[in-house]
Amino acid sequence: MTNQVPANKTPRPSAWQLFINNRLALIGFVIFLTLLFLALAAPLLPLAPPDETALTLRLLTPFSSEALLGTDHLGRDLLSRLIWGTQVSLMVGVSATLIAAIIGSTIGLLAGYFGGRTDSLLMRGIDMLMAFPYILLALAIVAALGPGLMNALYAIAIVNIPFFARNIRGVTLGLSQQAFIDAARLSGKNDSLILLSEILPNVLPTIVITMTTTIGWMILETAGLSFLGLGAQPPQADLGSMLGEGRKLLFTAPHVSIIPGLMIFVLVMSINLMGDGVRDLLDPRLKSGVMGRPAAATLVNHKNTASKQLIPCNVHGLKNGLQVANLHTEFHQGKSIYNAVNGVSFSIQPGECLGIIGESGSGKSVTAMSISRLVPSPPGEISNGQAWLDNQALFSLPLSQLQQIRGNKVAYVFQDPLSALHPLLTIGEQLIEAIQAHQSISYQAAKSMTISQLKQVKIPNPEQRIKNYPHQLSGGLRQRVVIAMALVNSPNLLIADEPTTALDVTIQAQVLKLLRQLQQQTKVALLFITHDFGLVSAMCDQVAVMYAGHIVETGPTHNLLTQPAHPYTQKLINCVPILGKNNQQLETIEGMPPPMNQLPTGCHFADRCPYAEDSCRQQAIHLTNLTDGHAVRCIKPLQHTLH
Ligand code: ADP
Ligand code: MG
Repeated sequence: MTNQVPANKTPRPSAWQLFINNRLALIGFVIFLTLLFLALAAPLLPLAPPDETALTLRLLTPFSSEALLGTDHLGRDLLSRLIWGTQVSLMVGVSATLIAAIIGSTIGLLAGYFGGRTDSLLMRGIDMLMAFPYILLALAIVAALGPGLMNALYAIAIVNIPFFARNIRGVTLGLSQQAFIDAARLSGKNDSLILLSEILPNVLPTIVITMTTTIGWMILETAGLSFLGLGAQPPQADLGSMLGEGRKLLFTAPHVSIIPGLMIFVLVMSINLMGDGVRDLLDPRLKSGVMGRPAAATLVNHKNTASKQLIPCNVHGLKNGLQVANLHTEFHQGKSIYNAVNGVSFSIQPGECLGIIGESGSGKSVTAMSISRLVPSPPGEISNGQAWLDNQALFSLPLSQLQQIRGNKVAYVFQDPLSALHPLLTIGEQLIEAIQAHQSISYQAAKSMTISQLKQVKIPNPEQRIKNYPHQLSGGLRQRVVIAMALVNSPNLLIADEPTTALDVTIQAQVLKLLRQLQQQTKVALLFITHDFGLVSAMCDQVAVMYAGHIVETGPTHNLLTQPAHPYTQKLINCVPILGKNNQQLETIEGMPPPMNQLPTGCHFADRCPYAEDSCRQQAIHLTNLTDGHAVRCIKPLQHTLH
């Protein structure tokens, strides 16, 4: 697919763009700004004095000539009281939030960072505050201090301190055990400097999020106290006291209470909507431009992926195994489209191993994840193509059938075995769960299957090992467990995404040998992803070289290794050191791959290719056959002539 975004567009949407993408948040923000402006401009507006009584003008209805919103039982102008009252309510809500945020966050930071006795002492104090019903505590504090707006403010601030303290303590506790804090300590920083320069910036988003979600709540609570006569004292108006005064006239003059009631509603709603938007913006997981959780399966554009569009057996003459045709997967971020996979086609027969090799970011993992629609959506979308496993069109299956296939017919082995295993379950429990998810057999039968499967992957003493937790195993053993788990339901397709990158070289060799053996025994189709050409020759029957979302060369491993046709393949091969060859000159590939949202028209590798000429850049280059099964996406292939 060609680039659809003008080159001068910034690739990442700005924070403001993300915020305004969220319509509700934007509406909340506009309403809040308007109310804030009105409240702050109260002294400048041509309003009647809010406390001036006029007994001749009592209980005028809205839209009367003397007062736009009418008057109350003392003849005071309701519009004026409403705007001045909003100012008071906003000031109390915001100040109480600030006080609670500063005191609560400081307590949370200190407790979370120092831990031990400091933590116990501070948190037990907080627990004492939390032991009382929330609003009762506020009432008790105002009762003790005496009614009045300032006292109501203090009471509301005090009862909200625990929310900040607990939230911030949790985040700080997690942060203070991370390596960057150890690094800061090693660099000689003292505790207060670490707290201020390392921890505080990281907890600030949480503080802001908690603040935006509590301001509305605090305005309501202040209004509640004033309504009960404990907050603002006559003649001063705040929204709660206006509501309280109007209560007695609810039937004779409903507008006196409805008007401040509506204002409280609109104010709190606008703050909450705006708070939601700010939270989505500050939450690092949502920063990629999405405001929602990923769907259970990648979105598929069915217009382009109709199952009958290509019939697999007619295309490749195959009945079993995996076939992928013209796969396009893209990511949508703001207005930019990142074409991570751009028309990839390949097939793997049962018992065969296809290696996908390419630099980091070339689209290997996205290709692998697209097969069982595991790419997060949004932002991901399969925009074209189809994948068939044993003639079943995967992109056209309903979610329930797809979930039956995942972990059963299609299994994955990922790079880091520690993050692929559940830390709180023993490996036995995890394997048994994997078996029982797809086979209706008893616990005992699943347990004995687990033990025999662990034997298969050559884990010594499996009867004892099943009681171990992942952290009790070495990296190599853990990856064997993951392989065992992947193979336990006899999949038809196994996808191993850089399965040994996290292991050291000797363990890597053992694990790969095991994987290859098991693959040949079980006749599973293996999609092996790596960035290391050294591993390809040992593992794979076929290789596909990927670059910037394209397969640039594919064919039998032997052909590719001995007669690479694409300059990129040649360079990748020359990057691999050969043991025992002392004075070998290793090549590096200069330059960077093109950004996925601004792919060039012609060959994507042209800018880094020593042989590139003008014709390489003029039009899209197609994959062309060289010899049987060996194809290249290059108009001037090395050591070959195009037929
Ligand atoms: P690799 O070949 O190293 O496995 P990937 O397939 O993971 O590369 O990534 C291919 C491209 O897709 C990269 O440019 C990456 O930035 C982009 N990409 C991958 N996952 C996401 C995502 N969740 N959101 C946005 N872009 C993504
Ligand atoms: Mg990857």
